[in-house]
Amino acid sequence: MEVELGEDWIEIRDSVRRICEGYPGAYWRDLDERAEYPHAFVDALTESGYLGALVPEEYGGAGLSLRAASVILETIHSMGCNAAACHAQMYIMGTVLRHGSAAQKQQYLPGIASGELRLQAFGVTEPTTGTDTTQLKTRAVRDGDDYVVNGQKVFISRALQSDLMLLLARTTPVEQCRKRSDGLSVFLIDLREIEGKGLSINPIPAMLNHNTNEIGFDDVRIPASSLVGEEGRGFRYILSGMNAERVLIASECLGDARWFLKTGVEYANERVVFDRPIGQNQGVQFPLARAYAETEAADMMIRRAAALFDAGENGGEAANIAKMLASEASWHAGEACLQTHGGFGFAKEYDVERKWRETRLYQVAPISTNMILSYIGEHVLGMPRSY
Ligand SMILES: Cc1cc2nc3c(=O)[nH]c(=O)nc-3n(C[C@H](O)[C@H](O)[C@H](O)COP(=O)(O)OP(=O)(O)OC[C@H]3O[C@@H](n4cnc5c(N)ncnc54)[C@H](O)[C@@H]3O)c2cc1C
Repeated sequence: MEVELGEDWIEIRDSVRRICEGYPGAYWRDLDERAEYPHAFVDALTESGYLGALVPEEYGGAGLSLRAASVILETIHSMGCNAAACHAQMYIMGTVLRHGSAAQKQQYLPGIASGELRLQAFGVTEPTTGTDTTQLKTRAVRDGDDYVVNGQKVFISRALQSDLMLLLARTTPVEQCRKRSDGLSVFLIDLREIEGKGLSINPIPAMLNHNTNEIGFDDVRIPASSLVGEEGRGFRYILSGMNAERVLIASECLGDARWFLKTGVEYANERVVFDRPIGQNQGVQFPLARAYAETEAADMMIRRAAALFDAGENGGEAANIAKMLASEASWHAGEACLQTHGGFGFAKEYDVERKWRETRLYQVAPISTNMILSYIGEHVLGMPRSY
């Protein structure tokens, strides 16, 4: 197993940078103002084929490694753009790829690879159970050739910009299960077919432009063929995709950190107060230097986690650590960048406050820092389960 140092995948980096140059800060500020989805940016990325990076070539994708996908997302974020509008198109399909039937793969993966079909909504979180996923209340009950779904999901991003959604629902009541993680099932549902048939999707206004929604299911009938894998094993299927997701999200954090550092250092060198550049003051310089050190450490951990994943190893420890370190590095870099800009950090035209809001998310979603620490404490260090 090799971990490359320095700029790997240079052609991909250059090509993604060229795409991103067409979407400067003004583009994102305008969308942020209107809470609008970045259609043009997502279309450009779709056309480039990068969103199909992880779909195997036999289904029309690029069949690239997780490391290559991680470089794509890092580059997008290092350019001041935001891949959150479409990153899930890259990795949600992994559950179908690993656990779906041959017919499901043939039916959906080519369209997902080309971008003709959008699978970028992932319905897990619920209002009353939150992080305690195994207690989720959404029920899918088999009825003839259908399942009937009832329940509520919250913070389901991009549901209005997605054709398909991967849904986690309980198929066997928890009281009848040996383990609380049993009895959950995954469904690949076609949102277009259930529109107006008991499905409601309502946007949640949020502190960042993330196109996230509350979703209600009121006796929604979905075909039994939308079940992915075996009934009752859905929790395991979801977990199996999480390491890839952690590495990819960590890569976005890394890109954010690099954007904050570049922007902060440039400003620190240019801005003159008390007859000297503010970057000459250690109080301004050191937070940026510290955030740089944290960013480099996170970069190494991301490369390690991606290498383990690409080698087929269980990279849970590395993926979790990478996600935690990268989200903290980007937050610290964001804080240092904002502070360095003084009052101008709050002026929208500098983009710092927008990126600062965007990068804050990653300590909460898709998994909060506390849950990663719990994982390390229990599964890596061998201490008692804390929840
Ligand atoms: C913008 C945005 C987009 C999102 N997109 C999606 C999506 O597309 N699909 C989806 O399914 N979900 C999505 N989420 C949901 C996200 O994954 C959850 O918000 C997150 O998992 C935390 O769940 P919660 O908000 O219910 O917090 P809670 O579970 O209520 O937790 C609140 C706080 O308490 C802490 N906490 C809880 N239990 C413990 C414990 N035992 N030990 C230590 N700390 C604990 C948590 O770490 C957290 O900080 C999104 C959220 C946001 C904000």
